[in-house]
Amino acid sequence: ELLVTKPKQERTGLPPLEGAEQGNVITRFPPEPNGYPHIGHAKASIIDEEYAKMYGGKLILRFDDTNPEKERLEYYAAIKVGLDWLGVKYDRVKNTSDDMEIIYSKARELIDSGDAYVCTCDKETISNNRREKKSCKCSLGDKDQNITRWNKMFDKFKPGEAIVRFRGNMNSDNTVMRDPTLLRIIDESHPIHKDKYRVWPNYDFAVAIEDSIDGITHAFRTKEYELRTELYYTLLDKMNMRKPKMLEFSRLEFQGMPVSKRVLKPLVEEGKVSGFDDPRLPTLEGLRRRGIVPEAIRKFILSLGFTKSDTMPPFETLESFNRKIVDPTSVRLFIVFDPVKLRVINNNLTEIEISNHPQTEMGKRKIAIDGTFYISGDDAKTLKIGEEIRLLEAYNVRITKIGQEIECEVIDTGHKSNIPKIQWITQKNPVNLEVLIPKILFNDDQFNEDSLEVKKALTEQYYLELNVGSEIQFIRFGYCRKDSANQAIYTHK
Ligand code: ATP
Ligand code: MG
Ligand code: MG
Repeated sequence: ELLVTKPKQERTGLPPLEGAEQGNVITRFPPEPNGYPHIGHAKASIIDEEYAKMYGGKLILRFDDTNPEKERLEYYAAIKVGLDWLGVKYDRVKNTSDDMEIIYSKARELIDSGDAYVCTCDKETISNNRREKKSCKCSLGDKDQNITRWNKMFDKFKPGEAIVRFRGNMNSDNTVMRDPTLLRIIDESHPIHKDKYRVWPNYDFAVAIEDSIDGITHAFRTKEYELRTELYYTLLDKMNMRKPKMLEFSRLEFQGMPVSKRVLKPLVEEGKVSGFDDPRLPTLEGLRRRGIVPEAIRKFILSLGFTKSDTMPPFETLESFNRKIVDPTSVRLFIVFDPVKLRVINNNLTEIEISNHPQTEMGKRKIAIDGTFYISGDDAKTLKIGEEIRLLEAYNVRITKIGQEIECEVIDTGHKSNIPKIQWITQKNPVNLEVLIPKILFNDDQFNEDSLEVKKALTEQYYLELNVGSEIQFIRFGYCRKDSANQAIYTHK
């Protein structure tokens, strides 16, 4: 027996679902396996999952794989990896393409009842007629003609020679209703079913059937599909199938960071970005490499809520959620750019112990020193002979000589508030590091040629002990994610 609890709205900030019953909600996330998952997919899948959880219901992952032209096995896998990383748990996984026999029988029912017909007009005629609200002669064909043509779609007709159309309303103000396509011929090998099928349902037909037979109670999709909802309900009515509740929300993308494959694919193909996991991209792989953590994505998405108004937040909104989460577990490390040598003439230390984090228990590290350090060129520029500075965590020194190298002498070790504090890297074992700094990808629809800055730096030996994927706060520089032994990616300030 199901426990009836009050929906956990306070926690998610999502509004209650119309007609939802505790224990009886089924949602679905229906990606087409034709690309890598991105922040928009995160939004959809997290909302699907949160609503299922809110009502003690279930989430189905359904691969909407009925266009073999664009779908690949690697994308099914990438989508699962993305959801795993996000922490989105589904109760069941299925493929629309596994229901082809059901889809064919529904098509046949519609043809039999006269609610669908096979059209052999060419593309141009069809689109002209749609624009001019005119029916074509195929729509007058009798049932026998349609059945013969339907059977021929499986062998005789070539792609483009025949499609199944729904008998909607050629006069409708909603262009979607003007006898839309339900099925078409595609002679491409399917990633799972290979050459078993050549007649494939289009999106509207497949999604209506699938949502209904999967027991979906609440189906969500992005706002640009709003006009298709009339078709969705009409199709289900004509097929005498149970109707889920269809709801729309806004598409999510960041300013200057589009999610559309049409935009991202060429960037990858032309080598303008390194791949779909380039840290400049809003793909889940890109965000992960950049140091964005899944908990931050979820909090960010829930903070936007369930709205229809277009959301194009700046990337910084996500960054501020991320910063709060990664800060307590980010090791603080020194980093130096444009290194300049600094020699302490009366050094008497051989090792210094430094806390890995000022507030949280993250242990300490030991740094071997011999009195020669690298400091950043920017810091070196400001120094004057006779000036007193603090070499952080070590001692206070007075500058005695400025040349190719800088010389100084130790004065004392106590903290002083009014002298410059400078970070350093010991010359004994510096680690050469490249820091990749992702910038905005597009400025006013124009690819930003300077979207990736690469800076050379020196950091501490301790960097090598951290796992790839660790988040680090480089002192006075910012948070970065360790991407490899000699590369870090800038996350945010
Ligand atoms: P694309 O333009 O990347 O192909 P799509 O809508 O075709 O986007 P699908 O893989 O079909 O992508 O989408 C799966 C689900 O994710 C759908 O329910 C879709 O509405 C949702 N979705 C896709 N992109 C976004 C986005 N930018 N914001 C919110 N939801 C999205
Ligand atoms: Mg798509
Ligand atoms: Mg799609």
